[in-house]
Amino acid sequence: MPLAVAVPMLGPPAVGKSTLASRLGQAPNCVVFRLREQVPAGRLAATAGGAGPLGWMDDVTVATALRRYLDRVVRAAGAHVVIFDNFPGSGRQVRLLLGELASLAPGRVVLPIELSVDAVTLRRRAVQRRVCHRCERDPVRDPRLPAKASDEDAQRCGRCGGVLQPRRGDAPRLLRARLARWQREAAGIRDEFAAAGIAISRLDTTGSLADTAAAVSALVTARSTRR
Ligand SMILES: [Zn+2]
Repeated sequence: MPLAVAVPMLGPPAVGKSTLASRLGQAPNCVVFRLREQVPAGRLAATAGGAGPLGWMDDVTVATALRRYLDRVVRAAGAHVVIFDNFPGSGRQVRLLLGELASLAPGRVVLPIELSVDAVTLRRRAVQRRVCHRCERDPVRDPRLPAKASDEDAQRCGRCGGVLQPRRGDAPRLLRARLARWQREAAGIRDEFAAAGIAISRLDTTGSLADTAAAVSALVTARSTRR
């Protein structure tokens, strides 16, 4: 099955991008691109140290990681849908992504989705979400993926029983910086997609994860069968 739909998942920190991407990625024909997972550990460590706590990556690193990943996905031909978790993160990265897709997977549909939620819910999600250092072996010890708590003990990981921790980037000062970065970059991201004639679908994530996932699936199905 050739790669048919690319879904950039956009939105502010803590809106629920990673949770939603993980959920959608459980479908057999769907894979999730997470930039951090595609960058060599040494490069990630250098980025974490050199670009401040926000961990910004240079264009060459991003382009190399993206090309390698897409090339593998296209060759494997098993994935119909690629979700880009929190990517692209800037207008330049939009151009990068569209360029790589055009050369490696021509004819695919690009369906960017911008998630939003009210400010109170956003803050609550950032305060409540937890990660697991044991289940997610992050090379710079900064796990990002939302962990599910155990039914018996909300402080412990439902998978390995380890103690859950807040995400490093959710500390109030960092979260403010990440929110500010999103607000700064969002206009450029929207402009680049608009310039390419690609509409961004907007989706409110106040409802349940199941409802939001169903809404995304419906969008993907509608777009991939239209032509
Ligand atoms: Zn765990």
